[in-house]
Amino acid sequence: MKTVVLIGDGMGDWPCPELEGKTPLQAAVAPNMRKIAAAGKLYLADTVPPGLPPGSDVANLGLLGYDAREFYTGRAPIEAAGAHLPLKDTDVALRCNLVHIADNKMVDYSSGHISTEDAAPMIATLQEKLGRPGLSFNTGVQYRHLVIWDGGPTDPVTQPPHDILTQDIGKYLPHEGRAQELLDLMEASKEILANHPVNIARKERGEVPVTQIWLWGQGPALKIPTYKELYNLTGTIITAVDLVRGLGVLAGLDTPEVPGATGWIDTNYQGKVDYALKALETQDFVYVHVEAPDECGHVGDAKLKTQAISDFDAKVVGPIWQALETKGEPYRLLVTMDHRTPVEIRGHSAEPVPLATLEGPIGPVSEECAFDEFINDGNIDIRTFEWIPTWLRGEA
Ligand SMILES: [Zn+2]
Repeated sequence: MKTVVLIGDGMGDWPCPELEGKTPLQAAVAPNMRKIAAAGKLYLADTVPPGLPPGSDVANLGLLGYDAREFYTGRAPIEAAGAHLPLKDTDVALRCNLVHIADNKMVDYSSGHISTEDAAPMIATLQEKLGRPGLSFNTGVQYRHLVIWDGGPTDPVTQPPHDILTQDIGKYLPHEGRAQELLDLMEASKEILANHPVNIARKERGEVPVTQIWLWGQGPALKIPTYKELYNLTGTIITAVDLVRGLGVLAGLDTPEVPGATGWIDTNYQGKVDYALKALETQDFVYVHVEAPDECGHVGDAKLKTQAISDFDAKVVGPIWQALETKGEPYRLLVTMDHRTPVEIRGHSAEPVPLATLEGPIGPVSEECAFDEFINDGNIDIRTFEWIPTWLRGEA
């Protein structure tokens, strides 16, 4: 039995005026997801445990069959695992975004989706000026970087910068506990980056300059049982982002780097499909994660998000489903999203999302049914993240 999970990050949404009142999922061309929903079982799913934030970290942990209430220590330690930065027991990892703040407002959590090429020299300069024994700045991908801090603060309340776009940062700055130590680093970064050669070049090219670092998502190492231990499954996670790769590393799954996988709408869809199908030749489980719909939600572009969903359906869901059918061996398929990223708020929201499962092979399917945020006609089953382990074990 092959088990396949396909995740379109942040695909869920709210009705958008730009789409004549439809959600991007409703407006997208998505025949494959609608056929899977029609031929299989369709649910609404609460992917986020009550009381936890609807982040991709918590939600993907749940979709992988782990209870975030038991294991979750913060986002940054997961990304550190994804970046192959091992943490000692006394280490604290912190996410370090390169952001653009103006008039005390969070204008851009990504400084114009800065390239890794531009970001790396800035992180190197921060390491030179602010790094010290036991505290290091580590270059990640694009705007996403990490500070690893032996004995660093775990107790401040911090805020994901992508959830406070256009808002005044005042009340979202690190507060409580040892917050001042984070504030000091963030403050010191302003002067260091203000006259950085990369920033000067970015301004000359008309690109968004980085005004400072933003520290958040801190925590000590996350420890979870492996997939082999929990589900007796071998498998692979296909993703472009360190966060989801980190969950794979921690779960003892393979996490190959797919060439050209970017986390954006220009990602190498075919490469991701090829790697997934290759993994299934020798393994039991594959989890394919596509980041683009979420990023389009954060950018606030309903039409682009619709396109990202159509691409996910046509270039990932369709080919993988077809390959499973062609192969003719028993398989279990699950298609869903980790949370909603409504274009209107350019951040995450915690309402339930549609989730479809299918057991095959089942032969050609022509019927389609709705696969969107409004499928609940009163008869539909609601599932929570706690149901996922049951499905993974083949008991659902
Ligand atoms: Zn997400």
